[in-house]
Amino acid sequence: METTSLPLRELEELAHAFLVANGCDHDNAAAITRTVIAAERDGAASHGAFRLPGYKASLNSGKVNGNADPTVEHIAPSVLRVHGDGGFVPLSLERSRQPLIDLTREQGVAVCGLVDSYHFSALWMEVEPLAEAGLCAIAMTAYKPVVAPAGSTKALFGTNPVAFGWPRRSGPPMVFDQASSVMARGEVMIAAREGRTVPPGVGLDRAGAPTTDPQAILDGGVMLTFGGYKGSSIAMMVELLASALIGERFSFEAEIADNNDGGPARGGEFLMAIDPARCGDADGWLEHSESFFETMLSLDGVRLPGDRRHARRQSAQDIDLPTDLIAVLRQR
Ligand code: NDP
Repeated sequence: METTSLPLRELEELAHAFLVANGCDHDNAAAITRTVIAAERDGAASHGAFRLPGYKASLNSGKVNGNADPTVEHIAPSVLRVHGDGGFVPLSLERSRQPLIDLTREQGVAVCGLVDSYHFSALWMEVEPLAEAGLCAIAMTAYKPVVAPAGSTKALFGTNPVAFGWPRRSGPPMVFDQASSVMARGEVMIAAREGRTVPPGVGLDRAGAPTTDPQAILDGGVMLTFGGYKGSSIAMMVELLASALIGERFSFEAEIADNNDGGPARGGEFLMAIDPARCGDADGWLEHSESFFETMLSLDGVRLPGDRRHARRQSAQDIDLPTDLIAVLRQR
């Protein structure tokens, strides 16, 4: 695959112009572009520029509102509800961030349910700023059914990621962000596009047989959860919290309502933030967790989740992108 190197700044202008040309107003285009640039900067290619044609598809089909004006409603003492106005989720997230931080500091714990929006990005971007504000945070979202529950060869769950952030004394927070499938769907799509195989255990073909061919998984096959039935239970929990709990669609309901334009289906996101200073060890929790990380890192072979991204962030300058993708973005 031929690639071309672009400075991040140039990609930022290109992404913003591409989104505006396809129907986003400035605020929505800027919020989406920030997620695309953060993903590319951190080496998370499956949720970077690769997603822009999908954003375009859903704007052009009229499914997603490029002029969405999300609003934050305080619906219970420690619960916020964000009405996405049918837009992509980045602007909803940005508008809910400070209210969630403030409410968590006030209550000790707060929940935020994002509804009527379309999620197409990585979840570490939502928990990292909360952890940078000194809170621990959890985020989950469901998607269209592409993953089979343990024991089945039929898709019911989305790839249903869970992200968790924990503040550190210095430097970036500890953040893990993982799909409950063995591999994120974007990674399977990139492997198919690049003609690579995927590891055994990632998915089944349309006949229900194990395969390492990503295209066979995408063409009517299914993906599998990590850790067998254990990952299946995590994926089920995500469905319940990001859908029934906050009043949004389950993955299978989202698929029925979706127009399959190549972009994301409508779905909910569940966010929870906890103020560690309000949970019983106000003076000691940070040092205690630091000593835990120190002990963990003293073991040979151990690194913390997020360290790869943060190391990549330090060195990020120019980004290598497929040349044909850049051509698509330039054509708008
Ligand atoms: P990975 O399997 O690549 O990584 C999962 C986590 O494990 C990361 O936090 C990673 O940190 C960490 N990690 C990886 N290797 C190690 C190691 N050796 N030691 C310690 N930690 C490690 O991610 P997935 O493929 O599961 O998911 C990719 C992305 O896809 C996520 O950002 C997720 O939010 C997104 N996604 C979005 C969906 C949506 O609907 N919007 C649906 C599904 C997934 P590090 O990054 O530092 O390597």
